[in-house]
Amino acid sequence: MITKEYFKKLYLDKFQSMHGKEIAEATPMDQYLTLGAVIRDFISRKWIASNNAYAKMDDKETYYFSLEFLLGKLMDANLLKLHLKEICAEALTELGIQLDQIEALEPDAGLGNGGLGRLAACFLDSLAALQLPGHGCGIRYKYGFFEQKIVDGYQVELPDNWLKYGNVWEIRKADKAVEVRFGGNVRLDRVDGRTLFIHENFDPVLAVPYDTPIVGYRNNTVNTLRLWSAETTMKDFDFSTFNRGDYLNAVKYKYEVESISQVLYPDDNHLEGRVLRLKQQYFFVSAGIQSIVRRYKKRHIHLRDFHKKVAIHINDTHPVLAIPELMRILIDEEEMGWDEAWEITTGTISYTNHTILPEALEKWPIDIFQTLLPRIYMIVHEINERFCRQLWEKYPGDWNKIRSMAILSDGYVHMAHLAAVGSNSINGVAKIHTEILKSQVMSNFYDSYPHKFNNKTNGITPRRWLLKSNPQLSRLISDTIGPDWLYDSRKLQLLVDYVRDSAFQDRIHGIKQHNKALLTAFIKDKYQISIDPDSIFDIQVKRIHAYKRQILNVLHIMDLYNRLLENPNLEIHPRTFIFGGKAAPSYYMAKQTIKLINTVAAVINQDTRIHGKLKVIFLENYNVSLGEKIFPAADVSEQISTASKEASGTGNMKFMMNGAITIGTLDGANIEIKEEVGEDNIVIFGLTADQVLKYYQEGGYNAWDLYHEDGRLKMVLDQLINGFLPVGPDEFRGIYEGFLYHNDEYFVLKDFSSYVEAHNKINRLYQDKEKWVQMSIHNIAHSGKFSSDKTISEYARDIWNIHPVPIPNNPLF
Ligand SMILES: *Cc1c(COP(=O)(O)O)cnc(C)c1O
Repeated sequence: MITKEYFKKLYLDKFQSMHGKEIAEATPMDQYLTLGAVIRDFISRKWIASNNAYAKMDDKETYYFSLEFLLGKLMDANLLKLHLKEICAEALTELGIQLDQIEALEPDAGLGNGGLGRLAACFLDSLAALQLPGHGCGIRYKYGFFEQKIVDGYQVELPDNWLKYGNVWEIRKADKAVEVRFGGNVRLDRVDGRTLFIHENFDPVLAVPYDTPIVGYRNNTVNTLRLWSAETTMKDFDFSTFNRGDYLNAVKYKYEVESISQVLYPDDNHLEGRVLRLKQQYFFVSAGIQSIVRRYKKRHIHLRDFHKKVAIHINDTHPVLAIPELMRILIDEEEMGWDEAWEITTGTISYTNHTILPEALEKWPIDIFQTLLPRIYMIVHEINERFCRQLWEKYPGDWNKIRSMAILSDGYVHMAHLAAVGSNSINGVAKIHTEILKSQVMSNFYDSYPHKFNNKTNGITPRRWLLKSNPQLSRLISDTIGPDWLYDSRKLQLLVDYVRDSAFQDRIHGIKQHNKALLTAFIKDKYQISIDPDSIFDIQVKRIHAYKRQILNVLHIMDLYNRLLENPNLEIHPRTFIFGGKAAPSYYMAKQTIKLINTVAAVINQDTRIHGKLKVIFLENYNVSLGEKIFPAADVSEQISTASKEASGTGNMKFMMNGAITIGTLDGANIEIKEEVGEDNIVIFGLTADQVLKYYQEGGYNAWDLYHEDGRLKMVLDQLINGFLPVGPDEFRGIYEGFLYHNDEYFVLKDFSSYVEAHNKINRLYQDKEKWVQMSIHNIAHSGKFSSDKTISEYARDIWNIHPVPIPNNPLF
């Protein structure tokens, strides 16, 4: 073990060599950068040992391709994983440095929108924790997901310049750069009876990898997240251009190339359809596959075994060009025949579907696609021809069916169809989601390839979402059942034995109150709003989206407020409703939802007539680090999407693991949470997915009926437009009309009364403190099923066929 004295020496030596001055003159940023470098030294030894072991072994490796990785901060997480946190904190204290203060300087790595990107980060964490050889591949965006500010109740977007002070975790690997080609044309040639496809007149882009270590939990594994940055190739941006007097065009060209990895698109569950987005997709996929093939060829002699040594997983359809790109490399560069290349490609690629929302399903206009990627288009075209021929044999004459499954149809490339045809596995992310995929959205593909379909319910890493974010609860759990739960989350079930233990109940309650006090202080400090730490903390944090129904939550709050005004003696436990989440910058309804929350909050928070029984807070800039403060402090978790729409959800799991009670619909993983905790330990309301899908298919829903039948509902709807709220008369007319003139697409009015009832039930349950704490313990105890360790071991076993590779201790250390 490292001693405190040794750590101090390492730190001081590193400080001097990096900054060339006395420690007394250090700025906080100097201190932060120094600690980053010290930790990196510990990681590097393990990283080298891991890479050596992987290069020598003969077993399979996985690459997880994702356009998003929402990592958050790494310093504290890495210290915990390296078992260095206590020693480091003590050593720094003796040097007059507060560890948590310098950790606060680290920017969040926010290279993702929400659930999909955070899932990729949790998966990398679990791969390393389980000693599995699995790496990430994505884009090093110069600007991550925008920073949200609230001005006058509205969302304002600011750029997230997260690399401003450098990034202590990444290592640029200039020698491993590869070239990616866009545009141009393909010329056919014949040599020795073989057709050659020669891509010419293309625009070359240099893809430069930056590697970030992904550290295993208290083992020696360090895997790699490789993120690609777009640069101009030297030969295309040099002085000859400058000398020709074409300097301005050369600068413009450089700017265009670099724009590929400039910014993350801020759309979640929605396709914007910009060419630059398609460029981003091909850019990182091509770079990633080229580097994997290059590395493979160093390890093995023949490519015919590629799929036995390499698994490539695509996170949604964003990286689906991995399929034609691997075909291109095998056929054009490695001179393989189509059939063998196809067998290897389909044997390599597996695919996760993340949504059934039609507006999120990727399709690209053929003309745009073909112009940008002429050779890739030819390959997709050939895949489509062969696939349609098979379909014709199976369903002769059934053109409707064939058109509905074709990769190319109606002038578009249908990315999910390409993924289904070119992969060996298609999985949904919760049981209900996989069933809907099989029975509705991809039913034709399920008929053709039933063996490809499987479910992998999402999960979250307990290292970040419990150990790091809720240290007191983690310590209590370890003191109670021992520390094994950190390696085997199912062990959390042992806590069931303590549900009736009153001393344990008291400690659970005390920890929740402690975490609520921390959030209370944070809110007071940041927003100068006082909230009651003894009130029920009822929290909805997630992307703002119509299907997630933040507005249902707001309508209930307005109704509760109306009831309190009508009857100031109404028996309710004081409530604090907390919201957080970003709206896509071009999503008008989502931005109006934020304005509505803030407007209602302003009215309620200043109204002394209700004696502080109700508070509403919108926390700006919801991200991973804010989530770490929020989940541990929640009493109630709002998971209220329209049934069938939320593929899984993972926020629901973070709340559960921290002891919050879910109020939710039977959607996504809520259904499996209910199965785990039992119906007494969750509050369920609203339409089922079957009922929702039936309404969509058969009609029969009329929002006006509900407006006329339910006086309380009518009152809150009218308050959106009748001057009750201190805004212009048309501010919320769009929301109002969405409900009544567009027939409430997300069944908010339909679920309103059962949601109000569910909240009344929450209020009743909270009166019985002991019962509530017992429910909370049940939730924590049954959250092990939602550890991403479990999810990843299932991917490893059922889809990837990879195995743990224990890494020996590096003797240098
Ligand atoms: C977990 C997480 C999400 C996903 O939340 P859902 O409630 O599942 O939509 C989004 N953003 C951040 C920052 C997260 O940590």
